[in-house]
Amino acid sequence: MKCLIIEIITIGEVKRRLLEDLARELTKAYAPLVESCLIGASLQMPPAAYNARRNQYNADLILDRVLHRITGENLVLALLTTDLYTRSRNLNFIFGQAQCPGRAALVSLCRLDPTFYGAPPDRKLFLKRATKEVIHELGHTFGLWHCANPSCVMSFSNSILDVDEKKPAFCKTCRRKLHRQTTLTIHVWR
Ligand SMILES: [Zn+2]
Ligand SMILES: [Zn+2]
Repeated sequence: MKCLIIEIITIGEVKRRLLEDLARELTKAYAPLVESCLIGASLQMPPAAYNARRNQYNADLILDRVLHRITGENLVLALLTTDLYTRSRNLNFIFGQAQCPGRAALVSLCRLDPTFYGAPPDRKLFLKRATKEVIHELGHTFGLWHCANPSCVMSFSNSILDVDEKKPAFCKTCRRKLHRQTTLTIHVWR
């Protein structure tokens, strides 16, 4: 089986060091399915994505734009600094959105940053949370849905407490599913 590459793109200013750390964590979490992560271009936020009433950005629209710029066979993960919502579910906000299965995923760093909650900056905690959410959203692109095990990275997070409770790793069941479904998923893409 051919190995995959994840391209990490940014919408908004994301620190280079965080990008490099996340690239390393993702490669580790998805080995041997994913060969490497490369840090790609930064995109402009589509102005139409902004919803003034909610003061948030429409994840469905952004995901659609990201999808349109995919070329080649890479998976694309877009990291954003703005707060996101989705039209498809009745939630106040979302940490991320992805095709399930598919090739594009989004993660908002906004609510993963401890300073969002008035706490002092904490690079380690920020990275830990972001690592979990990028693994989670990419799990959806591989066809995994939410897991009932609260410590599994594929469990749904409704709040930052849920994010902090889960581990940056798949439970046994999800790991098995991931390896079983990947061959199928890749077949659908090509
Ligand atoms: Zn999810
Ligand atoms: Zn699981």
